[in-house]
Amino acid sequence: METVVEPERRLPIISTVDVCVVGGGMAGVFAAVRASQLGMKVAIIEKNDFFGGIATAGNVNAWFSMYDTTGKKKIVSGLTEEVLEELKARGAAQYQQSAGFTTVNTEELKLVLDNLIKKNKIEAHLGTRFCTAFVGDSAASSAVVEFAGVNTGVSCAVVENADGRGVIKAKFFVDASGDAALCRRVLLSYYKVANMQPPTICGVFAGIDGKNAEIAKIVAEHGEEFGMKPVWRGDNAVPGFAKLTVHNEGHVMGYDVSFAAQHTAAELDGREMIDNYLKILRKYLKGGDKVQLVSLPASIGVRETFHVKSLHRVKDREILGGTKFKDAIANGSYPVDVHNPDGSVTIKRLDGTTGTIGTDGVYTEGRWKDEDKNAPTYYQIPFRCLVPDHKICNILSVGRCIDAEEEAFSAMRVMVNANQVGEAAGVAAAIAVKGGYIARDIPVAEVRERLAGLGAIIL
Ligand SMILES: Cc1cc2nc3c(=O)[nH]c(=O)nc-3n(C[C@H](O)[C@H](O)[C@H](O)COP(=O)(O)OP(=O)(O)OC[C@H]3O[C@@H](n4cnc5c(N)ncnc54)[C@H](O)[C@@H]3O)c2cc1C
Repeated sequence: METVVEPERRLPIISTVDVCVVGGGMAGVFAAVRASQLGMKVAIIEKNDFFGGIATAGNVNAWFSMYDTTGKKKIVSGLTEEVLEELKARGAAQYQQSAGFTTVNTEELKLVLDNLIKKNKIEAHLGTRFCTAFVGDSAASSAVVEFAGVNTGVSCAVVENADGRGVIKAKFFVDASGDAALCRRVLLSYYKVANMQPPTICGVFAGIDGKNAEIAKIVAEHGEEFGMKPVWRGDNAVPGFAKLTVHNEGHVMGYDVSFAAQHTAAELDGREMIDNYLKILRKYLKGGDKVQLVSLPASIGVRETFHVKSLHRVKDREILGGTKFKDAIANGSYPVDVHNPDGSVTIKRLDGTTGTIGTDGVYTEGRWKDEDKNAPTYYQIPFRCLVPDHKICNILSVGRCIDAEEEAFSAMRVMVNANQVGEAAGVAAAIAVKGGYIARDIPVAEVRERLAGLGAIIL
């Protein structure tokens, strides 16, 4: 590859804060809010012009249960509950009894997140891309990190926005980019799994609600004409709009969207899938001439890219076996839900049952273990899987880039879980700054105590 040399230049320091959060998805916003509530000056960097990440930009609108699998024991509260209550009060969230999840209006979620950021006096940098970070006073390079020694941390994030390039200095950082953008820049250990889950494009449609079975039949019979496969597709209502549905319009397969060119290709192919979907429905669905595309996601929904190697990689058996951790900072009951690269989906529930959606879109039930009266009803997420296993000492990584085996990750990635992990990182970052702790020495008992004090359910 031909190269050019970028000239060295002086960058303005645009802000100096206690805690800098990279990425304003759900995990990032919740981390920022909690750090601020514990007295930190907090900056949050988000490349979109609004907050929420996949929960808004991706049109993903189903928030899973805050109860264990019996539906009786509450295991999640905190900011998740606060945001859902606010959305319900606006008529923008609705519990779907039969499905066991709450659907939300993702546009109103943007407004609720704006209010949270403003109310908590968080310094917001929207339309701002995190570019790189410096360790000490120099640009990060392997030599610097090797030389750095145990107590050296990241000193600043370099960002770029309408004003050009600038620097945000901070004492502690949270990588909530979903793609380990910060951790990769400072050369922390990271990895990608072989069977990375595919991205999916979610459109909002009018005129197809309640017609899933009919649509599946049409795609099976006529899909080839439009280059479509009879893949898995799910739909959720948009609260307050009787006839609007968010449609998970099939996986966009064969791309590793952590590469720029493949990301671009996946966006283009994803939108082509939506276009073909409209064409087939308008041609073959009864009343198809009334089908309308209401909105496309701002970005394709990325389930998985990089994970940061941390002090503990959550094992599949720890999630499926409901392991209780002394350093637990989150509880979850969402099942293992692996979207395989071939388009099939594997669901494993804590009670031992499975659901599989084949590449033909056909759903079958089964078991992954014998019936067990004592099967766990929830699992936990330990604090150690947020703490990078490296000398750089002032970063926690949260949300999609958490350290977990494949099945474990497929359960942990959902919003109610990512949200709690974000809150824990915000609390831990504040404790680190106040107490002068490096990440691996943050007293987790204090994190748990503080979280409980802020309304989290700590079991
Ligand atoms: C298609 C699909 C369907 C899903 N369905 C569900 C579901 O039904 N229910 C559920 O609970 N979960 C679902 N999930 C999972 C869930 O939505 C995500 O895992 C979760 O929202 C991730 O939150 P996050 O904050 O970790 O990451 P993200 O939402 O990805 O947020 C990361 C943020 O960082 C920003 N960012 C990244 N790089 C930079 C940079 N360099 N500079 C500045 N900003 C940056 C991004 O713009 C983004 O806003 C689904 C996911 C997908 C993709």
